Amino acid sequence: MSKIISLAKRRGFIFQSSEIYGGFGSCYDFGPLGVEMKNNIKKAWWDEMIKNHENIVGLDAAILMSPKVWQASGHLTAGFADELVECKSCHKRFRADEIKSQKCPECSGPLMTPRKFNLMIKSFVGPLEDEAATTYLRAETCQGIYVNFENILNSMRLKIPFGIAQIGKAFRNEITPGDFIFRTREFEQMELQWFCHPKDAKRYFDFWQKERLKWYLNLGIKKENLRIKEVPEKEQPHYAKQALDLEYKFPFGWKEIEGIHNRGDWDLSNHSKYSGKDLRYFDEETKERYFPYIIETSGGADRSFLVFLCDAFQEVKGGRTKTTKAVKEIEILLKLHKDVAPIKVAVLPLVRNKPELVKKAKEVYQLLKPHFVCQYDELGSIGRRYRRQDEVGTTLCLTCDFETLKDETLTIRYRDTMKQERVKISDLINILKEKLNV
Ligand code: ATP
Repeated sequence: MSKIISLAKRRGFIFQSSEIYGGFGSCYDFGPLGVEMKNNIKKAWWDEMIKNHENIVGLDAAILMSPKVWQASGHLTAGFADELVECKSCHKRFRADEIKSQKCPECSGPLMTPRKFNLMIKSFVGPLEDEAATTYLRAETCQGIYVNFENILNSMRLKIPFGIAQIGKAFRNEITPGDFIFRTREFEQMELQWFCHPKDAKRYFDFWQKERLKWYLNLGIKKENLRIKEVPEKEQPHYAKQALDLEYKFPFGWKEIEGIHNRGDWDLSNHSKYSGKDLRYFDEETKERYFPYIIETSGGADRSFLVFLCDAFQEVKGGRTKTTKAVKEIEILLKLHKDVAPIKVAVLPLVRNKPELVKKAKEVYQLLKPHFVCQYDELGSIGRRYRRQDEVGTTLCLTCDFETLKDETLTIRYRDTMKQERVKISDLINILKEKLNV
């Protein structure tokens, strides 16, 4: 794991938040390559929901909401609290479900009895810090969807079954954040809420778990690193009728990456009760009025990011090329799916001491830049530059060499096979669009 973390920092994927001040509370910043890759993940999810499925619409709700929302949802009561244990000696705090003995894992001191710890992060709006001004940073994005159920239903003239998809930030005052960006206090969720008739809930629960698994597989995640775990009833969240976790085999063990829940009518019936608005759905054909059941798929953009990084990371001892001095080095290869890779194309002049070659390569770079996320690199030997691109998962490298100056062709080099192919510059945009599927 430490190698992945160090690559992420060294190559501009992820930095610790406020690093020059010693970091802050397990928060992270996504650097130049990180932001591209995270945007790619979010786009892949968004396209999957909005383009590949029917009857799903999007939403971008505010992070700050009326505190009444969190009363209705159960987040302010015991429902959204972890059991916390504190060490009597060193006062470190741990999640009770992660403690295996009666002793503090840090100093072996005695532990206090577990107590509930609410994970909502409190804040205040307006000039006064009093009860009336209290608000919370949302702990899950889906509440914005439930409170807009009626707005969306009416404005989009939808019929059950339909879905609402949303990507956005969520905040939890986690007791034990950690494992890099696996569990942080500020993170992004990608959530689909699927509204259906109660009699169809089981069928859609099964349908969506298969769809979600397929999404990860289609983006290249290895099958053997994914599994589905039924969540036993006593461990299910307070709102769930049925729950399962999609898990990934991280270097630190099998862990949840996405939760799939049958939330029943918990959310809409509670929001009806607390707001006084009847949020039941009226079926024009059957004349039935009912609370739809909600099937939720709740994944994390940051956690998926870590999945893609871990799954793609490879170290090749001795290097892949046997013709250069690199033979004795360890080469890093990031085998990211082309849709996820932060840089799609790198343009490289074979050498940089030939002005005509540099000029030509820069022209190619300018030609491609409006179409693809591109990088130009002329520093170091060509082999070293290929490895630098392999390390960040760049899908294709384009090299301008002496032949380019004669016949307006260049080579495309494929990251995973290192195979090279010669193409005409005039055909380049179309060829790349086809290869990269953009
Ligand atoms: P965990 O027990 O691992 O903290 P959870 O069961 O509380 O997760 P859910 O409430 O089901 O998680 O959230 C859905 C998804 O949101 C998770 O599968 C994960 O991808 C993401 N997520 C939740 N909490 C965090 C966090 N603290 N940091 C990063 N991602 C998170």
